[in-house]
Amino acid sequence: MLDRLQDTPPDALLALISAFAADERDDKIDLGVGVYRTDDGATPVFEAIKAAEQRLWEEQDSKSYLGPEGDKGFVKAIMPILFGDDTGMNGRIDGLQTPGGTGAVRLAMALAARAGITRVHVGTPSWPNHIPIIEDVGLEAVTFAHAKLDGSADGDAVLDLIRNGVEGDAVLLHACCHNPSGIDYTDDQWGQIADALADSPVLPIIDSAYQGLGHGLEEDSAGLRKVLARVPNALIAYSCDKNFGLYRDRVGAFYAKVAEPGMLSAAMSNAAALARANWSMPPDHGGAAVRIVLRDEDLRQKWLAELDRMRERLRWVRAHLAAADNKVEGVPLAHLEEQNGLFAMLPLSKEQIGKLREDHAVYMAGSGRINIAGLTRGNIDKFIAALADVTQSTAG
Ligand code: PMP
Repeated sequence: MLDRLQDTPPDALLALISAFAADERDDKIDLGVGVYRTDDGATPVFEAIKAAEQRLWEEQDSKSYLGPEGDKGFVKAIMPILFGDDTGMNGRIDGLQTPGGTGAVRLAMALAARAGITRVHVGTPSWPNHIPIIEDVGLEAVTFAHAKLDGSADGDAVLDLIRNGVEGDAVLLHACCHNPSGIDYTDDQWGQIADALADSPVLPIIDSAYQGLGHGLEEDSAGLRKVLARVPNALIAYSCDKNFGLYRDRVGAFYAKVAEPGMLSAAMSNAAALARANWSMPPDHGGAAVRIVLRDEDLRQKWLAELDRMRERLRWVRAHLAAADNKVEGVPLAHLEEQNGLFAMLPLSKEQIGKLREDHAVYMAGSGRINIAGLTRGNIDKFIAALADVTQSTAG
C-alpha cells in the first residue's frame, strides 16, 4: 500500500533554516523563521514564564491525565484578555486547551465540518498551514484577496463574500498581525465586517496568534470583539506561542461562541470529542505556566512589561525601515510602519531574493515574507543597503 504514496515537497521554510545554518558568513541575517528575536538576535524564555515554571516544578505533585479539555484554569485565564469585559458573554462562550494555535485552528475546522460547514473562505496570502488544515479535514478552501497592492487591507473583497455567502460557508479572519502581510483590517473595516456578518449565514472563524504584538492586548482584539458582539456563532483559535514565547511547548486554546447558553454544551462536547480523536489531550506544561503567570499579579505585570518591550522593538524596526523608503528602488517601505506584528511582504522577484541570499547572506522566504524581528540595530542598515543593491542591479 505505502508504495502508492508520492513524495511531497519539504516545507520551504524548514529548508531555509538548514541553508541558513550551513552558511558560514559572519554577517548572515535570518529573516525566515517566524519567531520573535531580541536586538541581540535571541529568542529567550520570558522571565515571567521562567518564574512560573519554577513554581510549577515546586508545586506540581502529579502528572496524571487532565482530559481532552486540558487545563481549564488556563483556558479561563485567557478569556478576559481575549474577550474583554464581555468574558463568557453570559454563558455563550467556552473553550478548551489545544496543542498550539495550530491545534486550535484544526479543531475549529473539524468542528465547523461537523456542524455542516462545507467551504471556508481564506484571504490570501495567509499562513501557509491554513489551507492544508482546511483541506485535511475535508473542507473546501476558497480564496479571496486579503490585501491591495498599496499595502492596505481589501475590505471590499471580504465584505463581498460575506454578503454573498450561503449556508455552509465560513470565513477565516486573522484577529491581528496578519501572517504573512502584517496588514490588518482598520477599525472601520472591522465594524463593517461585523455588521455584514450579523446579516449573513457565513460563520466567522477567527485566528488570533499574535495578540499584543501589534498595538497592545486591547487594541489587537478590538476587531474580534466587534465581530463577537454582533454574531450569534463564532469559532476562535488562540495561540500563546508568540505572546508568551512558548513556541515549542505548544500552547493554544479553542473557543466557541454560540447563540444561546443552552447550545454551549453541544458545541463543547463535540469539540472535546474531536480533540480526543485527534490528540487525546494537549501537553500540559506551557498552559500551566501561563495560568500561573496570569493568576499572579507580580508575574502578570512582568509578562506585560516583556510583551511591551517586544512590541516596541517591532515598532522600532518598522519605523526604521519606513524611514528608508526612498532608498530602495521599486520597494515601498513607508507603509511598513502602519502594518503590525512579526511579518511583512516585500515585492521582490525570485531573482532578487536569490541575490539577497547569495551576495548578502540575507535569508528570507521565497514568497517575499520577512520576519521583522530578524532585524536589529546591528544589521538593519546592512539589510537596507542589500535591498538597495539587489533592486538596483536587477532593475529592468
Ligand atoms: N495561526 C497563525 C496565523 C500563525 O501564524 C500561526 C503560527 N505562527 C499559528 C496559527 C499557529 O501557532 P502555533 O505555533 O501556536 O501552533
